[in-house]
Amino acid sequence: MSDGRPALRRDFPNRAALVDYVRRTFPGAAAVDAHIAPTLGGRRIAETTLAHIDPAAYAATRNHLNGAVTRLSPYLRHGVVSLTEVRNAALHRAPQAAAKLINELGWRDYYRRVYSVIGNAVWRDLEAYKTGWQVHDYAATLPADIVAGATGLACIDAFSRELHTTGYLHNHARMWLAAYIVHFRRVRWQAGARWFLTHLLDGDPASNNLSWQWVASTFSHKPYIFNRENLETFTGGVYCAVCPQRGRCDFEGEYALLEQRLFPHRQAAVATTEPAPLRSSVSQPVRGPMALSRPIVWLHGDNLSPHSPALLAAANAPALWVWDDALLARARISLKRVLFLYECLLELPVTIRRGEVAAEILRFAAEHKADGVITNVTPAPGFAAIRRRLEQTLPVVALAEAEAFVTPPVGLDLRRFSRYWRKVAADALQMKA
Ligand SMILES: Cc1cc2nc3c(=O)[nH]c(=O)nc-3n(C[C@H](O)[C@H](O)[C@H](O)COP(=O)(O)OP(=O)(O)OC[C@H]3O[C@@H](n4cnc5c(N)ncnc54)[C@H](O)[C@@H]3O)c2cc1C
Repeated sequence: MSDGRPALRRDFPNRAALVDYVRRTFPGAAAVDAHIAPTLGGRRIAETTLAHIDPAAYAATRNHLNGAVTRLSPYLRHGVVSLTEVRNAALHRAPQAAAKLINELGWRDYYRRVYSVIGNAVWRDLEAYKTGWQVHDYAATLPADIVAGATGLACIDAFSRELHTTGYLHNHARMWLAAYIVHFRRVRWQAGARWFLTHLLDGDPASNNLSWQWVASTFSHKPYIFNRENLETFTGGVYCAVCPQRGRCDFEGEYALLEQRLFPHRQAAVATTEPAPLRSSVSQPVRGPMALSRPIVWLHGDNLSPHSPALLAAANAPALWVWDDALLARARISLKRVLFLYECLLELPVTIRRGEVAAEILRFAAEHKADGVITNVTPAPGFAAIRRRLEQTLPVVALAEAEAFVTPPVGLDLRRFSRYWRKVAADALQMKA
């Protein structure tokens, strides 16, 4: 049944050979940005990273650029490790000091739940800007000097370069860069969000777009801004010390003064009403019935662990990954992101192909005379569309993690993190009732 389309390679003597192959195989991604990040993909390095987390140091230093953050985000984003695994490891390592880290893990869980409710609306302003400005007051595209790291502001230019070369930014750097783009340069958050997704190894429409909306104030009560004092406190002053704009930069001054300058029309526009609740889906994903006798496994980018539910449920079944070339081009995914995923795939028992995803899965299923497809649950709207296509031909079983990070009550209000966290914190922290 095969049309002779070859699988992509899996055998590489070293990283340099893999990098060379990925560069030649994905010229579109290399044309977007050809940097190679030092962060390695795969479960082995994820486990090593997990073994080094220090929840007590994390709680004390998390907001500092040189603080003891975990750098687990690319692995969590792609399901190489799960939130539950990290939570359990944190509680095991430091039962008394794990709460801060678990609370931050909660943000990821929260954003994914919002995403599963709103889907592609994650790209739309969820609420009005609370800045006094209207949408049309914001530029639609990212200024070239920000992308080029040539604003003349040492901090902003360093963050831009770091994003391009490493595919990672500390949370505080993301907040400062986002606030600079949206509030100091008055650019729509969507332009910045697209830029981040091109480069971040953990790039995720849920955490990324909703964080941008939180900064912008379209998913929060007020805009997030910062001043030089704040930046100096959490960076140890390393950028300001060498900045040509020192003493006269955009971030100088007290918050009240900055707010007056950035949002001169704000008072009149501040929302006085509570935003409407955003209810979680009625049903939680279930562990589906396994009535298939000859399944294939389809792996997607949200579950790249050898312990993913689908791989565990059908350990001997042929498994497939399909590079979605149209998606890579549409989202302008950079080479470092492709490389990271490729490294994750090389540690999994999976055939690697490229093309139109549903068509490739069906072709693979026919080659193996399969009676259905087993995969993992994800809130990504693109997944639902592929699943519908597959189900015209074959049954699809989508499995959830055996141990959820939290099991919130049905119909939970997801409008604000605080409302969600009040309801799930005890569950997340594994506190006995
Ligand atoms: C503008 C902006 C864009 C962002 N884009 C993304 C993105 O595309 N993908 C992404 O995973 N995170 C995103 N974040 C959230 C956060 O910045 C990163 O998850 C975190 O910095 C990753 O580094 P770490 O693994 O060392 O985090 P740690 O501080 O060690 O936290 C551990 C894990 O908890 C989760 N987490 C921590 N803080 C947050 C948060 N505020 N929101 C959501 N999850 C959190 C992450 O999975 C992280 O890996 C964004 C934040 C902002 C402000």
